[in-house]
This record gives sequence, structure tokens and C-alpha cells, in this order.
Amino acid sequence: MTGNGTDAGDAVTTVQELKDRVRAFRDERDWEQFHNPKDLCIALAIEAAELLELCRFKDTEELEAQIKNGELPEFEHEMSDVLSYLLSLAVRLDIDVTKALLAKMAINAEHYPVELAKGCKAKYTELQSGAER
Ligand SMILES: [Mg+2]
Repeated sequence: MTGNGTDAGDAVTTVQELKDRVRAFRDERDWEQFHNPKDLCIALAIEAAELLELCRFKDTEELEAQIKNGELPEFEHEMSDVLSYLLSLAVRLDIDVTKALLAKMAINAEHYPVELAKGCKAKYTELQSGAER
């Protein structure tokens, strides 16, 4: 990955490289002192709210078209802020996000077996009791 990340991309960049990048960004600014878990969680929630704000008063089609047509670059910016704080939290707490995600997906697969959950938006607690589709 180069300094500006122009040759980077999901297909060629590892999660570790992204974590190293946010750690370097933090350390260059001496911000580790501010990156405690509580404040990182607060920042993460704020950035998620900023992402949500971009969705306000737009229907799905309008929002999706704006994003895909490049008319709403702020959407990717806020997504990146969310990811940056999530990775910063993982760096601070030494959490392997790949292992964490895969473990949670295994739990989700148990909660939402394909035969019960396919095409159904019910919460898993309602699926077992026979939710309506
Ligand atoms: Mg932001």
C-alpha cells in the first residue's frame, strides 16, 4: 500500500495493513493518549450517526442512485470514518477482527438457519417459534 493508498483496494489489501495504517496515522499525531475504548466507541457511534444522517429523508432508490452515481461522496467518507474508528478500537484492544467476525457469523448462522430464515426478516428469537414471512 502506498502513502495515498491509490494502489490499494479490497482485493489486495489485508485487514492487518489497514490496522497498521490507522495505527501509524494515530501515532504520527500522538493521539494514542485519546484512543481509549470509551472514546473510540463514542466516536464510532457519532460517525455511524453521520452516515445515517446522509440517509435522512431519502427513499432507498434515491439514496442508492446518488451513491452509485458518485453524487454523494460523503457516504464513502462517513463509511471510512466508521471503519477507521472500528479498526482503531481493534488496535487498541488487540482484537483480531477477522476472527471476531467469523466467530460472530457462526453464531448468526446458528441463530438464522437457512431453512428458517431464508426470505424472512424476523429476529432469531421469533424464528424458532414460527414467524410469519
Ligand atoms: Mg465523519
